[in-house]
Amino acid sequence: LSPVPSDLEISRAQTPKAVDVLAKEIGLLADEIEIYGRSKAKVRLSLLERLKDQADGKYVLVAGITPTPLGEGKSTVTVGLVQALTAHLNINSFACLRQPSQGPTFGVKGGAAGGGYAQVIPMEEFNLHLTGDIHAITAANNLLAAAIDTRIFHENTQTDKALYNRLVPLVNGVREFSSIQLARLKKLGINKTDPSTLTEEEISKFARLNIEPSTITWQRVLDTNDRFLRKMTIGQAPTEKGYSRQAQFDIAVASEIMAVLALTDSLTDMKERLGRMVVASDKNGQPVTAEDLGVTGALTVLMKDAIKPNLMQTLEGTPVFVHAGPFANIAHGNSSVLADKIALKLVGEEGFVVTEAGFGADIGMEKFFNIKCRASGLVPNVVVLVATVRALKMHGGGPSVTAGVPLKKEYTEENIQLVADGCCNLQKQIQVAQLFGVPVVVALNVFKTDTRAEIDLVCELAKRAGAFDAVPCYHWSVGGKGSVDLARAVREAAGQGSRFRFLYDLQLPIVEKIRTIAQAVYGAKDIELSPEAQSKIDRYTQQGFGNLPICMAKTHLSLSHQPDKKGVPRDFILPISDVRASIGAGFIYPLVGTMSTMPGLPTRPCFYDIDLDTETEQVKGLF
Ligand code: ADP
Repeated sequence: LSPVPSDLEISRAQTPKAVDVLAKEIGLLADEIEIYGRSKAKVRLSLLERLKDQADGKYVLVAGITPTPLGEGKSTVTVGLVQALTAHLNINSFACLRQPSQGPTFGVKGGAAGGGYAQVIPMEEFNLHLTGDIHAITAANNLLAAAIDTRIFHENTQTDKALYNRLVPLVNGVREFSSIQLARLKKLGINKTDPSTLTEEEISKFARLNIEPSTITWQRVLDTNDRFLRKMTIGQAPTEKGYSRQAQFDIAVASEIMAVLALTDSLTDMKERLGRMVVASDKNGQPVTAEDLGVTGALTVLMKDAIKPNLMQTLEGTPVFVHAGPFANIAHGNSSVLADKIALKLVGEEGFVVTEAGFGADIGMEKFFNIKCRASGLVPNVVVLVATVRALKMHGGGPSVTAGVPLKKEYTEENIQLVADGCCNLQKQIQVAQLFGVPVVVALNVFKTDTRAEIDLVCELAKRAGAFDAVPCYHWSVGGKGSVDLARAVREAAGQGSRFRFLYDLQLPIVEKIRTIAQAVYGAKDIELSPEAQSKIDRYTQQGFGNLPICMAKTHLSLSHQPDKKGVPRDFILPISDVRASIGAGFIYPLVGTMSTMPGLPTRPCFYDIDLDTETEQVKGLF
């Protein structure tokens, strides 16, 4: 239709096929799915075993140039591309998308189901609770947080003997260690299985984790942009007997448990990763893990359904997995390894799996390659780099773009000079993708105000910068048929063969790995570590965690750490203010500049427009 109706109206006008019908179409057996409602299902991991001898399809990553705060259409391109491949070129394909966080959905940016005629439907189910995975992460994360503070409280208020007697209670007159406790004894070098034989010294060693409160890095989480939770004092009720400390909430999707979910490849591996998560150091500087707190099993129970990818469909009835991973600025920002692996089997050798990395290629894509591909062992065939005339004009010096404020005339009228000047950001992001040896196809996501001359200029400059191809796409306004040229270009690029390589060697010291990303990807002159960051790096290195990849928490609005520096900033020193360690997920997590792990709400958040028609039960105002 013209004009194109709202995302929600388009989504609602299409009736999705029943998810069991979709599942059957893509070759799933009846007992391999668990249906949630009418149009969503979880897919069981047993599928991977059944399909283990099937060759993988081609693996395509959708990344983008440095975006405006409105988003440049990566999810929309991902959906448009699979619609074009499957429904118009008859090639099996699967989109693997990230589950949106409630923070942006009710904050500034809206949902993440794509847009226009390239969407996952029903978009309100996609954008709101889905099948509860983020809620499960929140529950697991906060159980662990409660376990930490409560353990410290109990250790502060009880004698060794009383603690021990409560940790290993008498049941029918007999005291027995649980399997988790036996594992902890082994770790402590106490080779005993009979609780009555421990010496006083061993009892004390076993019963006390001796967590040093100032080293606690595990935060509580909530999937709401609630800036007033960025710093707080907990434990102020008299029942906590004066044990209080400064703490903070992070947005739920930045929880290490989200990263564990995204990077794991089986239930057994997830359990091991959850157990390995380091939450603090003890008074001797040794790491304290979830396993030490005895909570691994309970966390795994809370996460047992979340590990199964969620099957949905596009507007054109093609399959989509929605699983894990938003927020490439403060998290690793990629959908799950499991969804990609299952999809690669399901599409078959000639098929395509299109997955998406959050925000600009400098963050989402860099982490896709260096963290996700390292964890999965999968080798990508093509990078699709999404650009818009709008964002390029911003990089060329156009006025700032703010959500909720109408675009200035520079963006709605032809302005060749701004586009030409802004293409430096596109060129830089193409070079970043090339560092990894994968062919790049630029997808210019066309908006109705873009002119022919602007479109041609971007495609021309992209090819000159080394892109394998650059094509305009129109899926937003007409659906998959508007991206057939992109689909053809991607198919051709996939035939080129990728010479994929990682950017850095894991054996390099942590500081060198951070410096490599800062210089080679962001274009920084150098990095500068705060004393806090330096001491954390020393501690993690000493604890034996120096060989992990790096997950930078950096603004998505600039290649640098300063959101207002557009285009290709030069000669800047990247400040590393703090460093955390996500040992279960398997990465070191430096925080760049003033980056916060709990976003805030704007003056007029999206929730002003979101409502429910209580007669029809229809949601209004989501986009
Ligand atoms: P990203 O994944 O890069 O953050 P999205 O795909 O979520 O971006 O798109 C952001 C918003 O922009 C969505 O609301 C979408 O409907 C809208 N949008 C995307 N492409 C176009 C287009 N070509 N014309 C108009 N609006 C678009």
